[in-house]
Amino acid sequence: MSEHASGTRGEALRFSEERFRLLVESIKDYAIFMLDPEGRVVTWNEGAERIKGYRAEEIIGKPFTVFYPPEAVESGFPQYELEMAAKTGRFEDEGWRVRKDGSRFWANIVITALRDEAGELVGFAKVTRDLTERREAEQQRVRLSAEAAARAEADRRSRELEGLNARLQEQAVELEYQNEEARALTEELERTNRELQAALHQAEDARDAARSAERFTTEILASIADPFVVFDRDWRIRYVNPRAAQRFRDVLQRQPDEVIGQVVWDLYPELADSPIREALLEAFESRAPLTREVYAPERGVWLELHFYPLPDGGLAGSWRDITERKRAEEALQFLDGASAILSSSLDYERTLASLAHLVVPRLADWCAIDIAPDAGKPRRIAVAHVDPAKVQLARRLEERFPPDPNATSGVPEVLRTGRSELFADIPDETLVAGAKDEEQLRIMRELGLRSAMIVPLRTGRQVFGAMTLVAAESGRRYTEADLRLAEEVARRAAIAVENARLHRDSLAARDAAERAAADAEAAARAAAEANTAKTDFLRVMSHELRTPLNAIGGYAELLELGIHGPITDAQREALGRIRRSQRHLLSLINDVLNFAKLEAGHLEITSVPVRLREVLSGLEAMIAPQLRAGGVTYAYVPAAEDLVVLADRDKLEQILLNLLSNAVKFTPAGGHIEVAASRQGDKAAIRVTDTGVGIPADKLEAVFEPFVQVRPAPSGGPGGTGLGLSISRDLAHAMGGDLTAESVVDKGSTFTITLPLARE
Ligand code: ADP
Repeated sequence: MSEHASGTRGEALRFSEERFRLLVESIKDYAIFMLDPEGRVVTWNEGAERIKGYRAEEIIGKPFTVFYPPEAVESGFPQYELEMAAKTGRFEDEGWRVRKDGSRFWANIVITALRDEAGELVGFAKVTRDLTERREAEQQRVRLSAEAAARAEADRRSRELEGLNARLQEQAVELEYQNEEARALTEELERTNRELQAALHQAEDARDAARSAERFTTEILASIADPFVVFDRDWRIRYVNPRAAQRFRDVLQRQPDEVIGQVVWDLYPELADSPIREALLEAFESRAPLTREVYAPERGVWLELHFYPLPDGGLAGSWRDITERKRAEEALQFLDGASAILSSSLDYERTLASLAHLVVPRLADWCAIDIAPDAGKPRRIAVAHVDPAKVQLARRLEERFPPDPNATSGVPEVLRTGRSELFADIPDETLVAGAKDEEQLRIMRELGLRSAMIVPLRTGRQVFGAMTLVAAESGRRYTEADLRLAEEVARRAAIAVENARLHRDSLAARDAAERAAADAEAAARAAAEANTAKTDFLRVMSHELRTPLNAIGGYAELLELGIHGPITDAQREALGRIRRSQRHLLSLINDVLNFAKLEAGHLEITSVPVRLREVLSGLEAMIAPQLRAGGVTYAYVPAAEDLVVLADRDKLEQILLNLLSNAVKFTPAGGHIEVAASRQGDKAAIRVTDTGVGIPADKLEAVFEPFVQVRPAPSGGPGGTGLGLSISRDLAHAMGGDLTAESVVDKGSTFTITLPLARE
């Protein structure tokens, strides 16, 4: 009964709760939601979504403090509200709240504490109303009424003012008129004043400019390092700068005041047939600035001229001595030409001979080249003379009176020290003092020695020769500048000689390299031919040997079978030996034949999918007699899976039998041999392991070389050829696999064959 009753009441309550929920949810003007005792949102209605902007699924479970501005949260206000509501049952407030988008609204909030029947706090109901509009309307109203009052007051004032204004206006118009006139007058005065001032300034500036221009021009002209002269349109000299005045004093012995006003052609008659005159006239007529380099033969100098036509019809000009620069340029040109000529020959002595002809007559009247390679006795290899008739004379002087090797001056000294010598002036007394006899003096006088220089020829530090330059007929005197030029020529000649030598050496080296390469090629060809010959020989030989061997075996068998009559036991025994030896010999020959075929590429391999188990499981039967004879045990460990390899079955069997017979041969009685297969990535691996004598580590690769044997088999059985492993590895390679070995001496060896797996 009570159950039923409570059920009905429960339903009624649920019904009313449901209605309440629907009602609340549909209210749009109020945010109505519930909080749990900790202030987390539990329910949410449409009004709440509209006012606060959160959807139910976004906000349920979140703390209600998100609705408050940060400053309110900071001061603990939301918590305070809940505490108050809990204490008093209800709390009401008006204030700023925050929407989801961060904007604020003015809200009225009522929080009601919810308690269960036992009086326990189960949460809060919160009703929020957005009062922003109302508040704004209210504030607007307050503002409007204040404005209306203010406007009424203003209207009153303005009416008062209007009256006053009208009266003032009349007076103002009159005043304005007077004022206007005064202002116009002032402006006029000011403008005139400004114009006057500007004119004054301009005049001052112009005067200053003129003064400073004049000063600058005179200063600049005076400070120019080159002579500077101004002529008027009648070629009278109007101005000379200090440097020009100096030149006139030096050249014409005239003071500047004697020069000013003079016509230049009168003052300087030599100009009449000088290229300087041409340049002057050209600039004068063309009225354009002109720059020209001219050679003034009357003074033996090069000049650089600059002429500037002047606006008044006159001409200004300056000039500069550029003789040094011209000489240097000529020297450079000469040197470049020299380099070209010197490098044109790759012959050492020809190069040096051309050097002698190069410097005559440009640098010397006669020139001699001596060389002393490797510090030997100097040898004169070239003489050139302006006067060909005197070449012989110069040579005779050298032959008849060779220089004293111990002299402290001259070619031997230059060769020794590597330092140049300059004899600027050779007076006749020096010739007399230096001559050994009348004849030498006569020859030297005839050659007309006046001035000389000797410069070393060197590569790197090594002095290999000397160049002697002599001035005679031309009457020139060598200077330091001439010496430097001669040294530069010598340096370039040495470079050319060095290049020639390097070229010759590199040619020789290339020839040698080519010869060596040809030799190596011939040797390689011979070796290859020899190898083919050997292989062919082996192949033919072993093939030919097999026929008689087979005959030996066949006839021994016939005898054994008693075809030719009965045989004794001793004879049978002997026939058995013949047969064994024959088989052994046959197997050796087969090895050689196989090897030779492999070498010559005659062996045919046809790889097909082969089931590994089928090959491996049959092995034991094939070698059973040998295992028994050797006293060793055998085991086969098949792979976990059924491996199919790509291989030539016969060849694979050949490899395996070879490895197994080696294992038996090199494993003492009581040992064990095992064959195991496994998968290794995309390959199959077959391991043949024995517990035999092993192979020393340093022989592990060598055993795969043909004809290599490490030591005799301990079983004392018949020896092999040393070809088995070599053939086996070749076969494995030919099938796309490999054969490798690992071993520990006295412990045993493992030979591993890898083969490619056949694809399914
Ligand atoms: P052969 O056996 O005809 O001498 P092989 O090429 O087969 O020629 O072998 C070369 C040498 O490698 C052998 O003479 C032997 O010294 C060594 N060898 C080969 N297999 C083994 C093995 N299982 N254990 C020890 N040594 C071996």
